[in-house]
Amino acid sequence: MTDLTALNTLESRLNGSMKLIRMAPMAKYTTLRLGGPADLLAEPATPEQLVQLLKAAHELHIPVTLMGHGSNLLVKDGGIRGLVIRICREMRRIEVQGDTLRAEAGAMLSSLAMTAAENSLGGLTFASGIPGTVGGGVYMNAGAYGGEMSQVVTLVEGVDLTGEAFAYTGEEMQFAYRRSRLMDENKIVTHVTCRLPRADREALIKEMVELNRRRAEKQPLTLPSAGSTFKRPVGGYASALVDECGLRGASIGGAQVSEKHAGFLVNKGGTAADFLALIAHVQQVVMEQKGIMLEPEVRILGEDAPVTPV
Ligand SMILES: Cc1cc2nc3c(=O)[nH]c(=O)nc-3n(C[C@H](O)[C@H](O)[C@H](O)COP(=O)(O)OP(=O)(O)OC[C@H]3O[C@@H](n4cnc5c(N)ncnc54)[C@H](O)[C@@H]3O)c2cc1C
Repeated sequence: MTDLTALNTLESRLNGSMKLIRMAPMAKYTTLRLGGPADLLAEPATPEQLVQLLKAAHELHIPVTLMGHGSNLLVKDGGIRGLVIRICREMRRIEVQGDTLRAEAGAMLSSLAMTAAENSLGGLTFASGIPGTVGGGVYMNAGAYGGEMSQVVTLVEGVDLTGEAFAYTGEEMQFAYRRSRLMDENKIVTHVTCRLPRADREALIKEMVELNRRRAEKQPLTLPSAGSTFKRPVGGYASALVDECGLRGASIGGAQVSEKHAGFLVNKGGTAADFLALIAHVQQVVMEQKGIMLEPEVRILGEDAPVTPV
């Protein structure tokens, strides 16, 4: 239980200086469209506001959870205690200098890819259809169609939970498949710099249109999801394994293995508990039939809903 007095103090200290929402319904802030409330959600508009927020939360011993666009999150039904910091849209400036882009963490990957293309810079077309932020993209080392963030990122700047600055070069980020060192550290990305190769503007735009057409053809984009639920196991594809085990269309409550793409779990009016049960079911069946343990790619946050006595 988060200390209510501490939250009230934080709120009164920062009110008016940035967007603060009490009991923020996480279903509204995640693409999976489910999850209980965050005690307090803050959206800093500048890196300075972020540091101000972190220092206050640190001083008041309030636990902090970070999110971007919420496109890779499964928030449990009991919600998130303490402060959720959402870096998305409010902090989204992108600067272009020669062959280099420096973006604030809340810029969307689609905007980054489009800005690059408009400036005749390639290397980011793969990211144009990934519905997340630049910060979430480097944290996850997001990728698609043979590209991933590790190939273009040269510098990641940010702060730790006390507001102290850090900077990692691309090599120092220890990128691996859907992994970065940030997963083992409590660090928050504020800026990402990418150095990109020169390319033809029209060809880049054409390529992004084509990749997004392929995405819409294969993926269930009209239903809420968090993208691919499981990481690609060594030597195969999670979606193929799920399919081969006869799980396409399987459901628990309102959580369903997509009929269109067996790697996606889609929300048809379910709860986080339905999704967690379906994830466990898929893992168990794939383990039994294929001897492979699928590892979730989606990040699971928050607390289970309290059990109501009958
Ligand atoms: C329809 C659909 C398609 C998708 N396709 C792809 C795909 O092709 N390839 C792919 O890789 N992913 C894909 N995804 C998943 C998702 O879009 C990516 O993982 C994306 O990088 C997540 O970014 P986000 O801003 O939404 O992060 P969130 O989901 O909000 O957060 C993800 C993690 O990043 C951390 N994080 C977020 N911002 C920061 C920050 N500023 N500093 C430090 N940590 C931070 C959070 O704490 C969390 O642990 C897809 C998702 C959907 C819904």
